[in-house]
Amino acid sequence: MEENLENQLLNKKESGWLKTDNERFNQIQEFSNGYMNFLNSSKTEREFAANAVKVAEENGFVDINKKDFLNVGDKVYFLNREKSVYLAVIGEEKLENGLQIIGAHIDSPRLDLKPNPLYEDTDLAYFNTHYYGGIKKYQWTTIPLSIHGVIIKANGEKITVNIGEDENDPIFTITDLLPHLARDQYSKKLGEAIDGESLDLLIGGIPIKDEKGKESVKYNVLKILNEKYGITEADFVSSELELVPAFKARSLGFDYGMVAAYGQDDKVCSYTALRALMETNNPKKTAVCVLVDKEEIGSYGNTGMESHVFEYFISELLNKRGENRPNLLEKVFCYSKMLSSDVDAGFDPLYAGVSDKGNAGFLSRGITLNKYTGARGKSGASDANAEYVAWIRNILEKNDIRYQVSELGKVDVGGGGTIALILANKGIDVIDCGVPVLSMHAPYEVTSKFDIYEAYRTYKAFWE
Ligand code: MN
Ligand code: MN
Repeated sequence: MEENLENQLLNKKESGWLKTDNERFNQIQEFSNGYMNFLNSSKTEREFAANAVKVAEENGFVDINKKDFLNVGDKVYFLNREKSVYLAVIGEEKLENGLQIIGAHIDSPRLDLKPNPLYEDTDLAYFNTHYYGGIKKYQWTTIPLSIHGVIIKANGEKITVNIGEDENDPIFTITDLLPHLARDQYSKKLGEAIDGESLDLLIGGIPIKDEKGKESVKYNVLKILNEKYGITEADFVSSELELVPAFKARSLGFDYGMVAAYGQDDKVCSYTALRALMETNNPKKTAVCVLVDKEEIGSYGNTGMESHVFEYFISELLNKRGENRPNLLEKVFCYSKMLSSDVDAGFDPLYAGVSDKGNAGFLSRGITLNKYTGARGKSGASDANAEYVAWIRNILEKNDIRYQVSELGKVDVGGGGTIALILANKGIDVIDCGVPVLSMHAPYEVTSKFDIYEAYRTYKAFWE
């Protein structure tokens, strides 16, 4: 009796694995295998967007441009400039009663090539880079890197590049100073030890004679690239080439309980949301999934969440459902509910000092809800209304989904933001919700397979 009361009164926190039976354990492993496979072929926003469209089409989704009218139960998508995807399953109710939206981002921190990247120095050839998003620069040296992206020639011809993933491909790397000669480097602050300008990629070392008879490694690289892709040095100016870790997603731990992979922020949420939408049929309210680019650099640009392409997509839904009155879009947003689905800082026992243990997100304790993010007194946060938090809680508890409510670190230790406030500003009820991650933004991030599966279950329940 007393123990029962204790169970009722206390908000107990324990590993979700404790109540995972064999059947569920196998479901979790199988789901995680699918996730890891998807990650290996979706390291960049363009690759993720292309694979998301492929998965959607296999599940009956149609390009919205091919539809003049939309009926209840229809499944449509809009691919925006190959970098962001907007999907919807039309619900029974009118759109003006509000949508149920899940938004996640498909870009991840990385290194981009500069517009004029190629140079040579003392018989070695390099690509000059400019980092993208919040990285700890030292983590990107001395690891195998692959090159992904597109080169668009002036005539519009598009060349897709993916080199370093296949076992037979070469890889590339950024060198670091040997410890023997690093006395000055050791004395620098961690954030200053590696200079952004010295994050240059080593790409070649065999010189050939150029037309003037001068020996050149750069010329050799250009010749190889010309033979392989038909490009010249000038074509780099209209390219988008991204350097990402060449290693594959793997199960982590003797118990196979975790996933180690590049880009889990935020592909762990975008993948689980995508999978959940594929299984959403005939929802009451229209289910919308937004997979956006550019979150890691502020959500700006015409493929980021700030872009009005989102409004355009929702307007197209309204038009094609025959719901059109002036200012209807604002009403739709005002009555919509959303999960801003993004990763959370997982509590790391090795760095316990940055977290408030009573308000942190722990690996394997389920999906984390962040009522707010922000920094320095919640600045820059969208603070979800308590009524809405309760509404979400109810869904989770009804479906026996493990969840935890957390903050991003101790007060004033740092902070961060997501796309939540952008949607909240439109009038949508929104809360951050996602999977806790260790080593966030590092070339190899860690998540718990239990949490990945709970995220998927959360998104399914939200749309059902
Ligand atoms: Mn994120
Ligand atoms: Mn991030």
